Amino acid sequence: MNDHPPAESWRLRADIDLDALRANVRALTERATGGAALMAVVKADGYGHGLVPCARAAREAGAAWLGTATPDEALALRAAGDTGRVLCWLWTPGGPWRRAIEADIDVSVAASWALAEVTAAARAAGRRARVHLKADTGLGRNGCQPADWPDLVAAARAAEAAGAIRVTGMWSHFACADEPGHPSIALQQRAFDEALATAARAGLDPEVRHFANSPATLTLPAAHYDLVRPGVALYGLSPSPETGTPADFGLRPVMTLRAWLASVKRVPGGHGVSYGHHYVTPGETTLALVPAGYADGVPRHASGCGPVLVAGKWRTVAGRVAMDQFVVDLGGDSAAAGDEAVLFGPGDRGEPTAEDWARAAGTIGYEIVTRVGHRVPRIYHGESAS
Ligand SMILES: *Cc1c(COP(=O)(O)O)cnc(C)c1O
Repeated sequence: MNDHPPAESWRLRADIDLDALRANVRALTERATGGAALMAVVKADGYGHGLVPCARAAREAGAAWLGTATPDEALALRAAGDTGRVLCWLWTPGGPWRRAIEADIDVSVAASWALAEVTAAARAAGRRARVHLKADTGLGRNGCQPADWPDLVAAARAAEAAGAIRVTGMWSHFACADEPGHPSIALQQRAFDEALATAARAGLDPEVRHFANSPATLTLPAAHYDLVRPGVALYGLSPSPETGTPADFGLRPVMTLRAWLASVKRVPGGHGVSYGHHYVTPGETTLALVPAGYADGVPRHASGCGPVLVAGKWRTVAGRVAMDQFVVDLGGDSAAAGDEAVLFGPGDRGEPTAEDWARAAGTIGYEIVTRVGHRVPRIYHGESAS
């Protein structure tokens, strides 16, 4: 990673290693079986890493598709000049169907109300909408239930025959792919194959069938179909400890979150630290103030247990994480205001990883990186010149 001499005095920043992201895209593409293409999932501001720079880097590394949750995210990609295939899947009634169709965005449909809205919008726009039909094969979240699937595919086929839409995709999403061997995995795959067969009988012939999120991309080649759809693995995180470590799959974490100490001071023993005095200094000691708090995405649930590298060692959050800051006890070690505190990164400089924070806070690495706040500047490394 380049060394950025601070052009200003930094409080806290997230360094984003786009070379690592490109390498992760390539590693995942190599893992995709049967020539399956890759959709880089860049929803939620690229899992907190930045939508547009991550989308560009993923394209440079060969991602044929980009995936977003909301239509706004997909439209933002177009506004930034992306012209490749983009799918967005989280629609609500009255959504910007027509703008999506006019922007050549593939849209997901899982219910008859959505099919009716997209068909009407396509007619109004005077062009065919590209539609991916989503089956609920067992996740119980979005997606069409098996009982409703025959009607949905018949209606989609009718809209296709009428020239309003083209069914370009057929897809589903796993519930437990991050728990290898979970019995629901095989059941969901069987349900998906049945849904595909029903659609084929109805006369639908999609361009791409896709099912695999990161854990399925990493561990379930039989679920790769025509396109894999990883998110978290692009950013170099493992979907779960059960799946393996990032290194097991040749993935490298993309984000490093660092702060610069705002205060270092000696305090006597018996001194309460931070709101509620949940930490009391065991003896005379040195406290360091890390200027990062829950407004920056540092989980308050990591109070008393979050790890941070300061003065060459892992320290533990002393007392509560506040909105903008937390304290660590350096014991007999010394440091100075302005010294670096690394909250997480790839781990090769001895710093904790996002997974370490997830364990401390009782959550998943996804949430640690995605919640890094808007107040934290993202500094990009390895951006292409174009
Ligand atoms: C978020 C998401 C993905 C990516 O999931 P990861 O576990 O991050 O790989 C894929 N598909 C859908 C529908 C999603 O919502």
